[in-house]
Amino acid sequence: MITLVINSGSSSLKYQVREGDDVLAEGLVERIGEAEVPDHAAALDCVDRDVAAALGDRGIDAVGHRVVHGGERFSEPVLIDNEITRAIERLNPLAPLHNPAAVTGIRAITDKWPDMPQVAVFDTAFHRTLPERAWRYAVPDELYRKYGIRRYGFHGTSHAYVAQGAAELLGEKAFTGVIAHLGNGASVTAVRAGESIDTSMGFTPLEGLVMGTRSGDIDPSILLFLLREGYSEQDLDTLLNRTSGLKGLAGTNDMRSVAEAAASGDDRAALAIEVASYRLAKYIGGYHVAVGGAQALVFTAGIGENAGDFRSAVVSKLGALGLELDEGLNAERSKKARTISTAASAFPVLVVPTDEEAAIAGATADVVRRS
Ligand code: AMP
Repeated sequence: MITLVINSGSSSLKYQVREGDDVLAEGLVERIGEAEVPDHAAALDCVDRDVAAALGDRGIDAVGHRVVHGGERFSEPVLIDNEITRAIERLNPLAPLHNPAAVTGIRAITDKWPDMPQVAVFDTAFHRTLPERAWRYAVPDELYRKYGIRRYGFHGTSHAYVAQGAAELLGEKAFTGVIAHLGNGASVTAVRAGESIDTSMGFTPLEGLVMGTRSGDIDPSILLFLLREGYSEQDLDTLLNRTSGLKGLAGTNDMRSVAEAAASGDDRAALAIEVASYRLAKYIGGYHVAVGGAQALVFTAGIGENAGDFRSAVVSKLGALGLELDEGLNAERSKKARTISTAASAFPVLVVPTDEEAAIAGATADVVRRS
């Protein structure tokens, strides 16, 4: 089955065409809304041209969409119809930057290819197994009932894919342990018997770890303090989502630059790595307890897969759990799932590359075959 995977942003459209493990075409259409690409329909025409050039006389069989927010309703990928599109649209207030773009992408495909099977794959779905004690905030119940204020968790497609990969590497049926997805956005998930039971992102993808430009956990009173100091809602949004995290501490959101600066003696960069790795180590300790003893700790995504020094900074703080990296294995560069801890480590530390497009394409093909 040839699947087109679409990740729609408000002004961009990322796509990949896959047949099983083969990537037949991929690309990014940017600046949607400007003169050359006035809307998502025009962006889709660009994709169509690229795809036709790559596929020749073959065509796409199905489209899989990455949808950030599935709310409380969606716990797995679904075949899209009008009702599903409207349900995704009703979740717009919970993900105002992301879900409207996905809905626009879905409708653009429906207009262009009315008979094309389309599947929505939700970033929140894997975390629908969180027990209530993990997803509740200790705020008045009314806020949950009126606004849906609770923890949802994100990066679920990646965490689920990596949990499967880790289970295969360990020779287990289902994974129990801790997965750290460390990219520009970062989250850590506690997985027990293949199910997510806790995760660091919450109501939005802002909670939890120190990220590229997001603060992660802070005392909410800081916001009240800044409001009283004259900050606007927009100022606070920009502060927490765009100018905090590694960028706020070290001046750049790119871990490669932060690591290089730290290595050449930049104190702010070294501090950023310490703050980020310490925060993550605390979560890992907590989630080791949550899962009842991890079988493994897994690193994934841009930083998790490539930044050996950062992995080392994290694991060096986990001596109390008995974890020990093999620095030779940790320094090796590889695109394969692998173990990077010593034989003496209390449980293995793994690197398992993530591939959200492969996961979305796989889920899309499964749903379409079953329908
Ligand atoms: P992602 O969002 O998964 O693409 O990850 C992006 C992050 O991974 C950025 O902070 C990059 O600096 C970081 N990254 C990618 N490659 C490397 C590398 N070789 N060493 C350190 N960080 C890296």
